[in-house]
Amino acid sequence: MAKNQNFNTVAIHAGQEFDPTTGAVIPPVYMTSTYVQDGIGGLRSGYEYSRGGNPTRTSLETLLAALEGGKHGLSFASGLAAEDALLRAVLKPGDHVVLGNDVYGGTHRLIEKVHGAWGVRNTTVEMSDVSAVEAAIIPGETKILWIETPSNPLMKISNIAALADIGHRAGAIVVVDNTFASPALQQPLAHGADVVVHSTTKYLGGHSDVVGGGLVINDDELFEKTKFVQFAAGPVSAPLDAWLTVRGIKTLSVRMERHCTNAQAIAEFLQAHPAVETVYYPGLPSHPGHELAAQQMSGFGGMISLSFKDGAKAARTFCESMHLFQLAESLGGVESLVNYPAEMTHASVRGTDLEVPDNVVRLSVGIEDVADLIADLESALPRS
Ligand SMILES: *Cc1c(COP(=O)(O)O)cnc(C)c1O
Repeated sequence: MAKNQNFNTVAIHAGQEFDPTTGAVIPPVYMTSTYVQDGIGGLRSGYEYSRGGNPTRTSLETLLAALEGGKHGLSFASGLAAEDALLRAVLKPGDHVVLGNDVYGGTHRLIEKVHGAWGVRNTTVEMSDVSAVEAAIIPGETKILWIETPSNPLMKISNIAALADIGHRAGAIVVVDNTFASPALQQPLAHGADVVVHSTTKYLGGHSDVVGGGLVINDDELFEKTKFVQFAAGPVSAPLDAWLTVRGIKTLSVRMERHCTNAQAIAEFLQAHPAVETVYYPGLPSHPGHELAAQQMSGFGGMISLSFKDGAKAARTFCESMHLFQLAESLGGVESLVNYPAEMTHASVRGTDLEVPDNVVRLSVGIEDVADLIADLESALPRS
């Protein structure tokens, strides 16, 4: 692939060369567990066994790296499987992780409960406050600074470049979970991050039909270590899952454009409604991270949270009263979803300092006609 291609071209062509045998424009799905050897150890194209490598997975891994402007991509069975492989490659018992106080609940659960049981320590911090992060880092002991921006569910924006500086000065690896923005809107490696994490289940797959995860890593040694964990423990993505993800990524740019325009219109509509207390959307000038988001991102994304003046009961009624916005976990698909974080996506962080207020509702704004979406929201909001 030509090195100077732009994002929209890369998203369709990187790692997607036509099949040389038949000329098929779309590379086949390699549904195979193993590969014939030409004599013992005589591998064709390096493939030996599909836990170690599969051409369909390679095509996704090449694409992921190209999307993020990185050197190496790795594709996993889920976003959390990707996170776990990275954590295992980097951390030893006694090591310390600094992460945001409103990261994805499953990320906190993995670091606190699973890696915590093996002696990994963590501190949660207000990641949008650079000096708070500086204070939480223990130089020499903090091995990972884990950033999620925009964060989930309150859409806080963190300054990747400033945090990367702080992390690097303390000897930590700087990781950005780029699931909410997608590489169409934000490319963390260009801002100084070392690793990008994705739940490809969300915007990259884009159609709510596949669970997957990815890592993009520039450093050769860290890549080799993480790839070894992937090979040794086996949390790889299956060929059909990798293929569906590649298929989704081809329309990423056009989907993100519509997600952004729909979400902006909906955020403005909600902000003007008397039942709504706060709208958390970085595209609103009133959002505390608006200016930083405008510098760091090329669009404000499709995720919105809102809180209700009348508390939990109003929030729950709203969630259960819509038709187009379906009540479900997850996000990033073409269809709109509504989620009640306190009892759904963020139930695992109840009672911790990551707890989400119970009057907050999260919307994943899809790419349907925005007038229909607003009509659905209006019908579910209390009449003024
Ligand atoms: C969904 C999600 C994950 C976890 O990914 P899975 O594919 O569900 O394992 C991690 N980070 C963020 C921001 C997510 O939204």
